[in-house]
Amino acid sequence: AKASLTTDVCFYEEEMDKAVRERRRLVQQLREALDQDQFSLNWQVQASAETGEVTGYEVLLRWIQPDGTFVSPAEFIPLAEESGLILPIGEWVLRKACAEAALWEAPYKIAVNLSPIQLGHVDLPRLVHQILMETGLAPHRLELEITETAMIADLDRTTHILRQLKLLGVSIAMDDFGTGYSSLSTLRAFPFDKIKLDRSFMSELDGGPQSAAIIRAVLALGESLDIPVLAEGVETLEQLSFLRDQGCDEVQGYLLGRPKPVADSQLQDEALTMW
Ligand code: C2E
Ligand code: CA
Ligand code: CA
Ligand code: CA
Repeated sequence: AKASLTTDVCFYEEEMDKAVRERRRLVQQLREALDQDQFSLNWQVQASAETGEVTGYEVLLRWIQPDGTFVSPAEFIPLAEESGLILPIGEWVLRKACAEAALWEAPYKIAVNLSPIQLGHVDLPRLVHQILMETGLAPHRLELEITETAMIADLDRTTHILRQLKLLGVSIAMDDFGTGYSSLSTLRAFPFDKIKLDRSFMSELDGGPQSAAIIRAVLALGESLDIPVLAEGVETLEQLSFLRDQGCDEVQGYLLGRPKPVADSQLQDEALTMW
């Protein structure tokens, strides 16, 4: 028994070493990615639930390594956050997104994801201001998406920064609503311009009455707080028609369009035909 215990411990140590080395390698590659232009942005359409009219696009970061390997942001964003690389990467995303959007005639809003780490960075309002000036993007066309995790660390400081950002004329959306522990108190702490209902509620919509009841409740909440609600992860016509019936304001998901590069010709005047 003793021998096998030792073997097990060695096995775990080996596995852990491997995991640590793998992470270190990925962080190093992440560092190179920024210098070597391996990042790009994909855009995913958002539309009015009632009319299908395009209202904006969410910007999503893509990393394709030199050998063609695609690494998901769900994998590398946490590493970028731990290593601090999220600051230069996040700045790159903001600047690139604003520059690409400023080239459009269409007055669509663009929504950019912010990491809590970026919010903890005091210079953020100044950085956003500087990028808006540089790119010439009208502030009302920029929306910043944040999750409640950003609010937990230091509520007073975070709301102060969010207020400064709003003074610039940009809007603030609460992302992944309903997944955290304190979505409701977060709503109370700051006047968000939009609630983005997490896509897990959509994917479970067919699974039983609970998700439908929660979606209705969140829509009612948005209505009474006078905050528009966008439903994420809309994949089927059934989901879309449910959301329309319930008075949801905006929708986003594979049904309307996959995230794609801005250069795609369709992006310019994407016709949404499912309405
Ligand atoms: P998120 O902000 O919740 O972004 C939405 C994610 O849902 C995206 O995944 C998008 O491709 C995916 N999605 C959109 N429609 C559907 C659908 O109908 N069904 C399903 N199953 N998924 C859908 P993606 O691009 O892999 O990004 C994952 C997460 O990585 C994002 O979640 C966000 O938290 C983070 N992320 C992406 N880009 C950035 C960025 O530029 N900065 C920061 N800080 N985080 C980012
Ligand atoms: Ca988002
Ligand atoms: Ca989300
Ligand atoms: Ca409404």
